[in-house]
Amino acid sequence: MEYPRAGAHYPRSTGEFLAWFGTDEDCLDYLEWLRWPGGFTCQSCGHADGWRLGDGRFECAACHRRTSVTAGTIFDRTRTPMTVWFTACWLFATQKDGISAQSLQRSLEIGSYPTAWAMLHRLRSVLVRPGRDRLSGTVQVDETFIGGDEPGLAGGRARGTGAGRRARPGPLPGPARRQETAPGTGRAGLGSPAKPRPSSGQPAMENRRAPAAATNPAPVK
Ligand SMILES: [Zn+2]
Repeated sequence: MEYPRAGAHYPRSTGEFLAWFGTDEDCLDYLEWLRWPGGFTCQSCGHADGWRLGDGRFECAACHRRTSVTAGTIFDRTRTPMTVWFTACWLFATQKDGISAQSLQRSLEIGSYPTAWAMLHRLRSVLVRPGRDRLSGTVQVDETFIGGDEPGLAGGRARGTGAGRRARPGPLPGPARRQETAPGTGRAGLGSPAKPRPSSGQPAMENRRAPAAATNPAPVK
């Protein structure tokens, strides 16, 4: 598979992002393109022909099972508009230090904190690629903060410096970015299609949370 390229497979700037994903329909078109680059393929029987129903779902021409482009992805059965989801993805992928549920809720005017938290939870769950290869070749690690605030001091003052001039350790890291020899690999971002994965019993490596939403088998509707 061709490596995802900025400007072709995912936006290279916020301006491009806004131009690409102005409506929910834009977002769904994009997901369709990612998921079925050669046209609709039935995930039940593998038949590569079907049609789109009036409600936006797809029906297989062979087995007549119906599915949607979001089935089996982190966007499955969401009530949050796709534009909000996509903006959350964009912020999640582009903010160097990551994004908190609170700032996501504020910046996107998401109805409740639990909703924003659940969205981030789903996004984090798909950063882990079970069975991925180890990094090889030249590995670059972007600026990363290790450690956290020293406990017990108000206002973030560092212990033993009086005025707190000593540089404090930064916040806990956002996703450390890594790069292998081939550009684009190993990076988590919008360029990696949220492909539904078969629900296997594989352990989720380095993942403290269950990657539930991303690996659920698509429900038959
Ligand atoms: Zn089928």
